[in-house]
Amino acid sequence: MTLAYQLDVSEVLRQLDARAEGLDTAEAERRLIANGYNELAQHKLDSWWTILWRQLTATMVVILLVAAIVSGFLGDVREAIAIFAIVIFNAALGLRQEYQAERAIAALKRLAVPTVRVRRDRQVAEISARELVRGDIVLLEAGNVVPADCRLLESFNLRTLEASLTGESQPVDKHARTLATTALPVGDRGNMAFMGTVVAYGRGVAAVTATGMATELGRIATAIQTTHRQLTPLQLRLEKLGKGLAVVILAIVAVIFGLGLGRGESVSDMFLTAVSLAVAAVPEGLPAMVTIALALGAQRMLERRALIRKLPAVETLGSVDVICSDKTGTLTENRMTVTSLSTITQQMDVTPQTRATVPQTRLVLKDAPDFALLLAGASLCNDAHLEPASDRSERAREVGDPTETALVVAATAWDLEKGELETWFPRIAELPFDSDRKLMTTVHALPPPDLNLSAAAMALEPWRLQVKDCQSVAFMKGAVDCAIEICDRAWVAGCCLPLDSALRRKILADSDRLASEGIRVLGVAFRPLKKRAHEIDTDALERQFAFVGTVGTVDPARVEVQTAIQLCRSAGIRPLMITGDHPLTALHIARKLGLSEGDRVLTGMELDRLSDSELARQTEQVAVYARVSPQNKLDIVRSLQQRGHVVAMTGDGVNDAPALKQAHIGVAMGITGTDVAKEAADMVLLDDNFATIVAATREGRVIYDNIRKFIKFTLTGNSGELWAIAIAPLLGMPLPLLPLQILWINLLGDGILAIALSVEPGERSVMNRPPYRASESIFGRGVGRTIVWVGLQLGLLLLTIAYAYWSHNRAEWQTMAFATLAFSRIALAQTMRSDRDSFFQLDPRSNLPLLGAAIATASLQFAVLYLSVLQHMFVTLPLSIEDLGLCLVVSTVPFWAIEGEKAFARYRLNSKA
Ligand code: ATP
Repeated sequence: MTLAYQLDVSEVLRQLDARAEGLDTAEAERRLIANGYNELAQHKLDSWWTILWRQLTATMVVILLVAAIVSGFLGDVREAIAIFAIVIFNAALGLRQEYQAERAIAALKRLAVPTVRVRRDRQVAEISARELVRGDIVLLEAGNVVPADCRLLESFNLRTLEASLTGESQPVDKHARTLATTALPVGDRGNMAFMGTVVAYGRGVAAVTATGMATELGRIATAIQTTHRQLTPLQLRLEKLGKGLAVVILAIVAVIFGLGLGRGESVSDMFLTAVSLAVAAVPEGLPAMVTIALALGAQRMLERRALIRKLPAVETLGSVDVICSDKTGTLTENRMTVTSLSTITQQMDVTPQTRATVPQTRLVLKDAPDFALLLAGASLCNDAHLEPASDRSERAREVGDPTETALVVAATAWDLEKGELETWFPRIAELPFDSDRKLMTTVHALPPPDLNLSAAAMALEPWRLQVKDCQSVAFMKGAVDCAIEICDRAWVAGCCLPLDSALRRKILADSDRLASEGIRVLGVAFRPLKKRAHEIDTDALERQFAFVGTVGTVDPARVEVQTAIQLCRSAGIRPLMITGDHPLTALHIARKLGLSEGDRVLTGMELDRLSDSELARQTEQVAVYARVSPQNKLDIVRSLQQRGHVVAMTGDGVNDAPALKQAHIGVAMGITGTDVAKEAADMVLLDDNFATIVAATREGRVIYDNIRKFIKFTLTGNSGELWAIAIAPLLGMPLPLLPLQILWINLLGDGILAIALSVEPGERSVMNRPPYRASESIFGRGVGRTIVWVGLQLGLLLLTIAYAYWSHNRAEWQTMAFATLAFSRIALAQTMRSDRDSFFQLDPRSNLPLLGAAIATASLQFAVLYLSVLQHMFVTLPLSIEDLGLCLVVSTVPFWAIEGEKAFARYRLNSKA
């Protein structure tokens, strides 16, 4: 069989039944239905019965079920049935939660699939990589993850990293030539790009030859498909804690069991009590609860335009104390407009180009041909274009990078249409932009000397005369300081002069002046070449240029960012700006946004010279970093991390991936980010906005708080029960709570209440306090204290009320303890909604699920007390109004204790302030 790499381009297209202009949508849909989605066979989502089975087979549940069966055999069938019912109901509750969490995670995964640019219906469209079919024509560029196996139709310095497939660590050159008819190994198929490999450089056009499991990656993918669910750091900690607590609790339970037997309780009663207590008190469900809280939290973050790619990020976000953000698009709007044009001799301020200014400027161009060359160069050395408006009333659609579209818009306003320019000066080679060089260069063929240009382009005539003996011409644009390094001449009033140091200084000074006003300044230069297309060595291209002038663009700061930065400060988070832009432009924007700490800016070059210890010192003091390289970003993150900071770092380019991976939270741009950056990131900003990072951080804190509240609530109740049951025998009393009552309270009532606590909307003060340190114990900030002292208090209360009734031979003594426990936990859930605010300051409507859970639990408790069938089952007696009143009053004691503690804390805080 002949393979795609052995065929020439036209034959490949014929075999694929495709055209270079792309498939039409109807045909693509037909192929999609016939061949399925372009995805590797996924680990299937767990079905509901698998989850249910998992719930029912959890160790503790199995122990309980076995115990129920044993007790059934020992004679108490009624109790056994009741235990079964409670366990099943509890499992159903867990099933619902876990199912919801699974779906939320799956939805997030689907959203994280990259999009691809394809030619469909003779236009370039952006579609999800899942929807690619054989025969689709895809456009590849640096930063893309190749979405399927493809045969290249065109390649412009395309290089891919194939390490994931072949193990080769260096980028491999890719071309569109036909290869030998002999069979070649994957690594030698230079005209193919393979799914899962990464475009490291250049761009290309390719036809999809295989999708999904039919790709080379698909063939070896079975080994990498096990989507093993990883535990988050918090879950690991909780699992360890759960195990530790289990040992302690089991020991206590064993003692209770022994004491009970010693006091003559029946073996079957004591056995069931011990098991119920163990099942109810051992917090084995904590890690699962954390997954649910994180998954649902991630879903809420999505509503705020932050897509979580890795679940642990949700919990780490709460501890972030430094956010390193790039500038363009994140702090600013990435809506560039050209505001100034400068040649060596003239400067022109331009307002946003409207057609109205054209007649006047056309005159300028004719009289100042250097401006024409500047604009033509900026427009030709450029990958953006304008798509004509479909309607007269609409503006042309700008396609491409905003810096570049601004240049095309400006040139067009002076009647230098990019499409026309490209027909006269077709591109024959290029060196794409990258943020290390901060330059971009393209090479163009020259039109024959007798070709007539348009009226506006006639201004280029003097320049055309100068380069008429050349075969081609290179245009370069980029950061002025970098551009000037590769220039040795300057274009001054129609001729090339040597670029001496005085002229260099003048150009840099002019550019600095503009930069200090927040303007991004790009230099434009050209180089006549004596070489034809195939003789051009792109590696030796960027030298001996003639500097033409500069184009200044402005990019307004995002208005919402200023508030977000203030919020960061009050939340103990330091925002840093780390940009590839000019130091003065960066400082201007930083000041405007209130981000700068003093007037210091560190540049990439300065950073390179610092020792590790010096860097660590500087990163604590300087908030603005400019002209940084991706390596500098990595150094800054590492340095901050070494000082114990939890760092979020944004990035968009291919080279940002290492810094994104290194940061605790790598944040990629959803709109402008490359696939590579997105894959390396923990979170993707769907709107590229800094304010979204801050919103996600807030959400992370809320989720972490809620997990702590959940733990505090469950363990306080558990410890109360343990105290009561452990101390009762010492008072010579029988057990104050029966096994079924313990299970009822813990598995049913608490289950509902605790889960509702985990959806608390967040405290008022959540962004007015410093972040949790990553190493901080989950029992810190009073959680452990409350569990111990409120737990003990609850236990003593239950004992007191039980003892009082028991010692007066009142038959309802156990029911009193049972009811007090149930009501006190409802009350505890209410006060534990906030760590600081009083319950009376909270709006009950802000957590309706908790309100519902409280009403449901209370109603169920009343049913258990007053419905005869349930009375029979739970061995309760109907309480008189007085007894019930007493229960209700006593059950609020822990509530008031916590309210008092919070009031004291508020008082101390106010008096300090
Ligand atoms: P940030 O890092 O905040 O996103 P940035 O966009 O300025 O800022 P880079 O994309 O690394 O960062 O760009 C660095 C510099 O390279 C810019 O300041 C600009 O001078 C120049 N530059 C940016 N885009 C282009 C381009 N398409 N062609 C040529 N030069 C460019």
